[in-house]
Amino acid sequence: MGTRECGSPIAMSRPSVGEAGLTGDWRNSRPVMDAAKCLAAKSGKVTCQLCWAYCPDACITQGAGPAIDLTYCKGCGICAEECPAGAIAMVPEAEHGTCEIDAAAEVAR
Ligand code: SF4
Ligand code: SF4
Repeated sequence: MGTRECGSPIAMSRPSVGEAGLTGDWRNSRPVMDAAKCLAAKSGKVTCQLCWAYCPDACITQGAGPAIDLTYCKGCGICAEECPAGAIAMVPEAEHGTCEIDAAAEVAR
């Protein structure tokens, strides 16, 4: 339940940071890309891009060396599974300590 500016209740809730899709503190692993193995990065051209195509949250940007936006990554590992070059590894969050992006999202809530 939400509230309009005039104070009247409305049935729909307003989107907040969490509901907008930001990864919270629940992701247990993150994708780490090795540019030395990435076909696009090695060729310097926008080739392959399978990680971009398969990411269900559209948090990988196309490029000659795609970039992963961890703000929205849920750690599903699909990109790592689909990468034909084995350039993406899923690494447990515990090995990274506190995720700075996630911490910033928590402050914004
Ligand atoms: S799927 Fe793998 S090789 Fe292809 S662009 Fe993505 S990281 Fe590079
Ligand atoms: S782990 Fe899943 S959500 Fe994160 S970048 Fe890879 S495919 Fe996208």
